[in-house]
Amino acid sequence: MRRYILLNPGPVNVKESVRKALLAPDMCHREPEFSRLMTGCAKKLLLAFGITGTHKAVFFTGSGTAALEAAVVSSVPQGKKILVINNGVYGERIAEIAGRHGIGLINLKSDMTKTPDINAAEEIIRRDKDISVVAMVHHETSTGILNPVYEIGRLCKKHNKLYLLDSISALGGEDLDFRRANVDLCVGTANKCIEGIPGVSFVLVSKRALPKLKGVHPRSLYFDISLNLEGQKKGEPLFTPAVQIFYSLDCALDELMKEGVQGRIKRYKNLAALLRKGFEGAGLKYLIEPKYHSNTITALRLPKGVTYDKLHDALKAKGFVIYAGQSKLKRTIFRIANMGRITVNDACRLLMALKSALKKEGAG
Ligand SMILES: *Cc1c(COP(=O)(O)O)cnc(C)c1O
Repeated sequence: MRRYILLNPGPVNVKESVRKALLAPDMCHREPEFSRLMTGCAKKLLLAFGITGTHKAVFFTGSGTAALEAAVVSSVPQGKKILVINNGVYGERIAEIAGRHGIGLINLKSDMTKTPDINAAEEIIRRDKDISVVAMVHHETSTGILNPVYEIGRLCKKHNKLYLLDSISALGGEDLDFRRANVDLCVGTANKCIEGIPGVSFVLVSKRALPKLKGVHPRSLYFDISLNLEGQKKGEPLFTPAVQIFYSLDCALDELMKEGVQGRIKRYKNLAALLRKGFEGAGLKYLIEPKYHSNTITALRLPKGVTYDKLHDALKAKGFVIYAGQSKLKRTIFRIANMGRITVNDACRLLMALKSALKKEGAG
């Protein structure tokens, strides 16, 4: 099958060694070999992000949304509420999860093309004493906006709220000082900036939050953080994990530590800068102001007369997979992500292919 350069925000192109790791021997998840593999992955995650002393890692077999759902259902006590600071499709997803579980919800929606209003959030926290968890998306993948993680962390600390951060598309790609951000439940996944294979996601839970989670009446069996953490700590996962995905995650985490989180951030940042110079040179316009840009996604307006489908197909024919806009941005933008093992050469070839495709579509 043809190999594509993936410019979608995960699953990403991975290193050959990460893919090959999938072919390790068959293994029973109730044997000490697997227990070592899983606890090793947890240790490496905590080490890579410098949070060994303050956080625990708990894994879920499932995509990023699985760990996100676990974080939501395990953190809000009965009769209490979650405030969702929502400026995009993924913020809305957190709200939807809460709604489906009948969890008290305050959905603070704001303009998708801007960062949220911190004062408005504080006003709500002050007024409503039932709020016990504040949730936000770190990097809104639908627009490429980097949200104010530290400011909201400060609010949570000041008002003594648990801070739930969907960092699924940011962890490994954006700066995150856990101590300064005061994050209690940080949700991540294997197949974005961690550069692993899809199938496993995780929550990094602060030790100070653990007793609070224990006090929450369980809403779910599979997604109960406390229960899963207890099992995983003893090397006894409650349910059958995606064993082979852990092999490749372990390898991906070795690679992450070799490169260093700061090294990876720098690589992504440089690649984004190179791409953006090319986008500007091609006359493309950004959806959001550049000051909000993350290191890994650029949302671009479709030029007049160019449809997403045509652009997508023209680029795919040359080996590049781009990504559409979501919800109300579906017909007006396209996205280029630069997560994963994309080289400078790949990026330069993409820019050439993009320019020639736009020309053919008669952009302008
Ligand atoms: C990718 C992503 C998710 C999870 O998506 P899955 O398809 O379940 O992996 C959640 N939040 C954000 C911000 C994301 O980028």
